[in-house]
Order: sequence, then C-alpha cells, then structure tokens
Amino acid sequence: MNLARFPRIRLGHLPTPLEPMERLSKHLGGPKLWIKRDDCTGLSTGGNKTRKLEYLMAETLAQGADTVITQGATQSNHARQTAAAAAKLGLACHILLEDRTGYTDPAYTRSANVLMDRLHGATISRRPGGADMQAEMEALAEELRKTGRRPYVIPGGGSNPVGALGYVGAALELVAQASEIGLRIDHVVHATGSAGTQAGLVAGLVGLNSGIPVLGIGVRAPREKQEANVLTLAQRTADHLGLPQGTIRAEHVRANCDYVGQGYGIPTQGMVEAVKLLAEQEGILLDPVYSGKGMAGLIDLIGKGRFGPEENVVFIHTGGAVGLFGYPDAFDLPAEAG
Ligand SMILES: *Cc1c(COP(=O)(O)O)cnc(C)c1O
Repeated sequence: MNLARFPRIRLGHLPTPLEPMERLSKHLGGPKLWIKRDDCTGLSTGGNKTRKLEYLMAETLAQGADTVITQGATQSNHARQTAAAAAKLGLACHILLEDRTGYTDPAYTRSANVLMDRLHGATISRRPGGADMQAEMEALAEELRKTGRRPYVIPGGGSNPVGALGYVGAALELVAQASEIGLRIDHVVHATGSAGTQAGLVAGLVGLNSGIPVLGIGVRAPREKQEANVLTLAQRTADHLGLPQGTIRAEHVRANCDYVGQGYGIPTQGMVEAVKLLAEQEGILLDPVYSGKGMAGLIDLIGKGRFGPEENVVFIHTGGAVGLFGYPDAFDLPAEAG
C-alpha cells in the first residue's frame, strides 16, 4: 500500500499518541485498555475529521476551488474542523447544519462547535431534521457557481474514498506504533457514524494483513444499515487504493448499535457514566455524541465478557469534547462545595 501517491496537505499533529489507560483497566478488571489520541490532532481542538481533511482539502486545491461546502448536525465536529482547515488555506466555507435533535437551549444551538464554526469565519445556514442534506449542498453549490465562485462539496463527515484515506493512514500509524513498543493489539474499538473512520481503518488493517479486528459502536443507524454503509465505503476505499478486488469482505466489518439510545445526539445514561468515568479515572474528556457512547459500549461489552482479561484493546478517541459545552445539563453533577 502506497499512501504517499495521494495528494495530501498537512493539517494535523501526527502521529497521535498511543497510551495505556492503567487506572481504567484496573478499575474494570481488564482487558488491557489503550487509547489512540485522535482527539489530539491539533486543528481547532482536534478530532478524527482532521485526518480526512488532509486528503479532501488537497483535492479541493487540486481542483482549483475557492470555496468549500459541507454539512452536519448542529454540533458537528466535522463542520468545525472543516471551517478551521478552510480558514488555514484561505478558502471560503459554507456550512449547512441539520437540526437532528430539536434542542433549543442556546448552549446547544449557539455555543461549542457552532461558536467555533463562526470564529473560523464560516457562513452557517440551518436546515430542519430529515432534510436531504446532500441535495441542499448541491443546490447551494449551484447558487454559488452562478455568482462566479468555484465550490467543492465535502460530504457529511468527510466520508468518501478520498476522506477515508486519512484513516488508512491512521491504520498504518497504529500498526507501526504497536510494533515499536511490542504491543499485540487484539481489538480496535471506536464510535462509528458516517462510516469513513471505520472504512479507512478496515481498508488499512486488512490491506496490511494485520489480523486486527475493528468494532464500530454505532451512534445513529441500526446495525445492518451501519455495517452495510461501512462495508460499501471500505470496498470503495480499497479500490481507490488499488487493493485487489475482494480484499474487503463482510466479515471484516462489525458494528454494534445497541448504545444509540433514543437517537443521534441524545444523551444516554451509559454515555454520561462513561464520560464521567474517563474524566475521573484518566483525566480524559470524551464527547457526548460519539466517543462517550462508543466508550459506553466498550465498557458494557467488557462487563459482558466480550474481551479476555489479558487482551489488548485500543479505543480510538475520535475527539469532540468541545461538544460537552453544548450539553451543560446532561451530567447531573454534584453541587459545588459552597
Ligand atoms: C465524526 C465523528 C465520529 C464518527 O466518525 P465517522 O467517520 O463519521 O464514522 C466519531 N467521533 C467523533 C468525535 C466525530 O466527530
């Protein structure tokens, strides 16, 4: 696999650290838990979209675009990182935010990621939940073209075969780090949404013949749909990489969507407990929409004996802690001391 032949613009602080979570592993009684700190990619407080944007923004510039358009939920981490990347590259940025939760608290609608989108100079417009966001972006692109702009449309979550190359790169990085410290990785676990992260990881890890399985914890779609989305994109990414046909098979793609709760972006008790536990045991901030639910799933599966006590499990922290400021009342914290 030769990733270096694809155009890329450096945006992130890479490689991200791979660290043991000793207190949490002990607290849970095994397995041996590790964390890959993709929350520390640097760009505008970091997160997993930065790796994808390194390839997507290279394509944007190669096509001579002067404007990027993307979409996401109100508290989209992808929108925030795209706005920051566009600012760094001197591109205009239009963001369409879909109201998937119906929340009206100004902390949610105006602060956290939304505040940062605006600080980076992005133009924001809102759409109701359930809107056809891809069609909305195409319509906006058409409008902008009429005014002489040259827009490039980035799909939600940056999830297409170009963006997923960022997580092929993460797979190579992780395997190299593990080799260096003599770590046998038995499982990789992370939160999965628009599918590009898992698709890239699977294409990279299978392409390397690493034998490392990936489990995505879903945050929105039911399992069959999520696995189908990841499989399709992993296969398209493998094609883009030039891997032999049939390299990626259905058995390589596993998602568990039992931890979504009432819906995308809606807090669950498990998420609240996972966010508090990581904050108290490891000094690490997860996020309420993705990594909090991903970790809630991992903790529950550990309780059910899904992993052996001596196995090494790497959780990929995909970022998003800024989103905590959009949910100030979700955590039911004790009163101050006075
Ligand atoms: C977007 C996102 C994910 C999910 O990644 P996908 O590539 O969309 O599946 C996970 N965690 C955080 C914090 C995210 O912002």
